[in-house]
Amino acid sequence: MTKALYVHVPFCDKICAYCDFTRVVTHPKLIAEYLGALKTELESYPLNFYKTMYIGGGTPTALNEKELTILFEILKPSSKMVQEYTIEINPESLTLDKVKVMKRYGINRVSLGVQTFDEKELKLLHRSHSFEDIINAINLLRSNGITNISIDLIYGLPLQTLESFERSIHEAFKLPITHLSLYSLTIEPHSEFGRQKLTKVSDEMEELMYFKAIELFKSYGFHQYEISNFTKEQASQHNTMYWHSEDYLGIGPGAVSLLKNQRIENTKNLMNYQKGISHESIIDLSVDDQRYEFMMMGLRLKKGIELERYLTRFNESMNVHYEKQIDELIKKGWLEIKEGYLRCTEEGFPLLNTVLGELLDE
Ligand code: SF4
Repeated sequence: MTKALYVHVPFCDKICAYCDFTRVVTHPKLIAEYLGALKTELESYPLNFYKTMYIGGGTPTALNEKELTILFEILKPSSKMVQEYTIEINPESLTLDKVKVMKRYGINRVSLGVQTFDEKELKLLHRSHSFEDIINAINLLRSNGITNISIDLIYGLPLQTLESFERSIHEAFKLPITHLSLYSLTIEPHSEFGRQKLTKVSDEMEELMYFKAIELFKSYGFHQYEISNFTKEQASQHNTMYWHSEDYLGIGPGAVSLLKNQRIENTKNLMNYQKGISHESIIDLSVDDQRYEFMMMGLRLKKGIELERYLTRFNESMNVHYEKQIDELIKKGWLEIKEGYLRCTEEGFPLLNTVLGELLDE
């Protein structure tokens, strides 16, 4: 049974300068058509009760209360058994009425798009929220019983300094957050940053920022459980399904599904999606592809990959394909096998891409 459902809401009130996601500027007619197409798409699959559901975007809170209610009604039959129900929100578009709608339909986790607490950097990103909006959003959520709150932080921005990044981290931990996701900026050619030919900070600075972040998060009691994710004790159950390479259904334009060893990619073209042409490609994953992904996703977790789970999934020991590479990486001090798990060492974890390159180069 597929345990995870991802729902993509492709609307934003304003387009951020670094953004290359599937999104368009909010428009009531487009939203109504999108909601109709989303319902059709969800109903084209057998009814399923998901363990985790994640509404992402875009900006789901760019929808007004009425539109959000329609969205939640569409998802209601699938949410009967949901344990973790997350929605992404942007601080400036959250209202009391929207929080009430979320609460009524069972939302129990929120991912808040903060990115930075520095007003100048927010402006550069074309983000429309202020520091005050963040505080207000968190207060609204908590006073309505939504206390599992994750925030996103970004580093490597043009003009960002180690000091301004550190300040953002300290500001973040003044808030009652339970989880933090940390991303380095990517300058996509089709984003505003790409068109302006802006460059991010140097590789050395980016590395300094990453290690500084880990050190500071630790001092606030947040441990790294995945290459980009930190918490005291509330890891994202939904994303953990991805890292475990479990099946998930993704609906909405640009959404991706992993179902019965097929990767299904939905069209990113909203017009085509509204016309009911949802699938852009369906790729059959060979056993080699599955194995590759399983290793690549699993080693993103600090805990690593349970050898027993690999055995159950592929009906053979991990050694059959990876013994030589694992031995060499253990000798280098980058991988270790402990308590039934293969995982990166403290030294190997920041070098994950290199480790994966050497491990998976069959
Ligand atoms: S809110 Fe997110 S999806 Fe929307 S434009 Fe900004 S980065 Fe892109």
